[in-house]
Order: sequence, then structure tokens, then C-alpha cells
Amino acid sequence: MATSKKDIRALTKEQLRNFFVEHGDKAFRGNQVYEWLWQKSAHSFEDMTNISKETREMLENNFVINHIQVDQMQRSSDGTIKNAVRLHDDLIVESVLIPTPTRTTACVSSQVGCSLDCKFCATARLKRMRNLNPDEIYDQVVAIDNESRLYHNRPLSNIVFMGMGEPLMNYNNVIKAIDKITSPEGLGMSPKRIVVSTSGVPKMIKKMADDDVKFKLAVSLHSAIDEVRTSIMPFNATFPLASLREALQYWYAKTKNRITYEYVVWKGINDKRKDADALVEFCKFAPSKVNIIEYNPIDDGEFQQAQSSAIDMYVNVLEKNHITVTVRRSRGKDIDAACGQLANKS
Ligand code: SAH
Repeated sequence: MATSKKDIRALTKEQLRNFFVEHGDKAFRGNQVYEWLWQKSAHSFEDMTNISKETREMLENNFVINHIQVDQMQRSSDGTIKNAVRLHDDLIVESVLIPTPTRTTACVSSQVGCSLDCKFCATARLKRMRNLNPDEIYDQVVAIDNESRLYHNRPLSNIVFMGMGEPLMNYNNVIKAIDKITSPEGLGMSPKRIVVSTSGVPKMIKKMADDDVKFKLAVSLHSAIDEVRTSIMPFNATFPLASLREALQYWYAKTKNRITYEYVVWKGINDKRKDADALVEFCKFAPSKVNIIEYNPIDDGEFQQAQSSAIDMYVNVLEKNHITVTVRRSRGKDIDAACGQLANKS
């Protein structure tokens, strides 16, 4: 429900402590409430059982907790779970739990819709409505962690920012969410288990390097030839490959972190030897890994998964050039939970 009260989770711990001092209480009360808000993920002030009724009422009069609500949960035959998540203003985003024998990964959204216009992605058709707040990103992770414990008997182990939206176009909030996820005052997860996936916004990749972030970077490349990339990811006209590469060189020089490239091979678009050669040329400046991901059809057909011989050709060319390559199968296709299928369909 829309309200004019302030979202309490927009406050830092220091601001919350000051709020209590200004209201004639102890700063320590701020710590207690902060712990309820983040570590214990309280949905309401009433849940805060070690806080007096008076104080809870005072908080109620000043603030709201804009907690997300899992509106609908779908479970795939392969164990994948997709959540349709309702935000306080009734907009919906989706997040996905992906289990494997050794890990559980949360795929979370960073925006409602997306401002990019990748031709092969269902989310692109939704248009960007707004950025998610740090607490809305955090809540998606908590919801998946709970489901992981409930359905797979283990806590969440990894997070990928590969849901709806372009995380680097909501950089500040994504960083704040990751700070909470990795902080002992939040979920205490290791940043090494978090991957931020981007279509490639050069300026922001450099900013990440300057900020000395500890999470991993994945770049959705899909083609290392400008004309081809622009035809499937039109924003490449604004940020062409040379500027992306320059930013990635800067990233690698500063962080010494390997770069992962996400890559789909489509019939008639990027399935020729020259495409694989261009990919090798593009990524050999730094230790790289290429994840060839399966195409998840989003409609009747402009894009089609390339034949397996084309995938084999890519694998051979990359391996010959000492570039690590993995071929990844999609998960959760039967519930439209796979990469690029998130479009609030149900
Ligand atoms: N905007 C970010 C994160 C969201 S997309 C990014 O571009 O990286 C997450 C991944 O899914 C990206 O690698 C994207 O290129 C890929 N993807 C999008 N649509 C897809 C589809 N239909 N099939 C397979 N992968 C897709």
C-alpha cells in the first residue's frame, strides 16, 4: 500500500541510532531495531519482541517496513523454484532458486522490467518501471534462502544478479544490497559467491573496479563483432565493443579477477567460425571463462538455438586458445524460470 511514511530500511544503522537519541531513547535501541530489520528480516514492528510496545508504536507512526511478499511460487520438475514477488507499490518482479547437487543459487532481479532492449530477452519487452531498493533485493535473497532450507534442506550458497533488469544501471542500490547480504549484520555470505551479470556498461565497470568490489563479474557478450552485437543488443551502438573491452581491461588490471562471458549461440546469427575467432580475439587480454548458455525461446522464432555442431566448434576453438569454456543446460524452463524468460507471465 502506498504511504507517505518513510521506509525504515532506507536508514543506515547510524541514522537509526540517531533517530532514537533524537527521540529521547538510547542509541543502542537503534542497534536492536537494525538487527530485527536485517538479520532477522522482521516483517512488522510487532515482531520486535524485545522492543517495548510504546517504542514499537512510535516506530509505526513514523515508518513502514516495505517488505516484499512472495505472491506466487512455482516449482519446476527439476527442483527450480520461481517466485513472483509483489513490491509495496504492487509491482511484480521474479526471482529464481536453482538447485544443483552441490549448491543452491538465487537468481535475483535488480529492476522492475529493463531499459535495455536485447532482442532475445523476454524482460526487455516489459520496459523499465523503476529500480529496486536495496531492501527489495535483499528480501528476494532471504525468501530464496528460506525456500532452500525448506525444500532442499540447506542454506542458499550462491547469488547471481541475472534476473530482471540491468544491475549496473541500478548500481548504488545493488551495492547497498550486496553490502547487507555479505555483512555479518545481514546474511554474512561471502562476496566470492555473488556474480553480478551485466550487458556491459563501460563506465560502471570501471567504477566497480575503482570501488574495489569483491564479488565476481559476468558480461553478457553474445557476439564480439560490433554489427552482430548491435543487431541483437541495440545498446551496443552506444557502448561499442572497443569501449567495453577497454573497461574490462581496466577492471582486470585493478582486480586481477577473471572475467566470465555469457554467450548464447544462435542459428544464422553467430554460429560461424569467424564468430568464434572474434570471441577468442576479444577475450584473450585477460584470463577468461566463457559460459555457453542454452537459448530459451521466448516466442515463435526469430532466434533459434544453434546446432550442437556449432557449439562443438566454439568449444574446440576456445579450448585450443586456452580459454575455459563450459556449456550450461537451462533450468526451470517448464515454469518460464530460465535466463531471459522472466516476464511476469503468471
Ligand atoms: N542485464 C543483465 C542481467 C540479466 S540477463 C545482463 O544482461 O547480463 C541474464 C542473462 O540471461 C544474460 O546473460 C542474458 O544475456 C541472458 N539471456 C537473456 N535472454 C535469454 C534467453 N532468451 N535465453 C538464454 N539466455 C538469455
